[in-house]
Amino acid sequence: MKITCPTCKKKTDYDLENDFRPFCSNKCKLIDLGSWAAEEFSIPGSSIQGEDDEK
Ligand SMILES: [Zn+2]
Repeated sequence: MKITCPTCKKKTDYDLENDFRPFCSNKCKLIDLGSWAAEEFSIPGSSIQGEDDEK
């Protein structure tokens, strides 16, 4: 069974012993987690922070 790595789009074997699945490698896993975290932190907090600011 083959899966596509979400990070590099490379086809990789689905292996239960692969700790990085669905990624092909730890590097791709970290890249994906990193970009996810980066997106979280880059969201402008206007709806969250702006509401009760200086009221
Ligand atoms: Zn990959």
